Amino acid sequence: MTIHAGGCICGAIRYETEGAPLRVTVCHCRWCQRATGTAYMVEPVFDLAAFRVTEGEPATYDHRSEGSGKLVHVHFCPRCGTKLFLTFERFPGAAGIYAGTFDEPDWIEVRPSEANHLFCEVARPDTLLPEGTRAFPGHARAQDGALNEPRLVETAMPARRVFG
Ligand SMILES: [Zn+2]
Ligand SMILES: [Zn+2]
Repeated sequence: MTIHAGGCICGAIRYETEGAPLRVTVCHCRWCQRATGTAYMVEPVFDLAAFRVTEGEPATYDHRSEGSGKLVHVHFCPRCGTKLFLTFERFPGAAGIYAGTFDEPDWIEVRPSEANHLFCEVARPDTLLPEGTRAFPGHARAQDGALNEPRLVETAMPARRVFG
């Protein structure tokens, strides 16, 4: 199994993942824009069993999602404030990593044919999606857990324009 390590900017918190992510999500929602302080979150999702904190103790902020009503746990470094990963009341077996915190973040590939781009309707107007992207106007899953149908982006275009 391939181990990939990551950590915060001050080095107090370190973590490791084992193997490949279950999926990679790119989330353009306003919550991710605010939480990351930038355009969108690149979120490789791992089986919780394939993820471990190896150094330090992250602090946790519990946020109740307006969409699902369930808690999203934001884990961050109490010293430098770097957000490292998310865990979810709704998906208890999963950990979503803030991809930029890996030591070598390029190993996480955002392949247009595999990665789901969520909340494209509220993406920044200057965010472009490449050809072949799987785009969703909002969440990839309906409230009952059923997977919504993505729209395939045929030629590169601003995320906001995909749905009108
Ligand atoms: Zn830190
Ligand atoms: Zn989001």
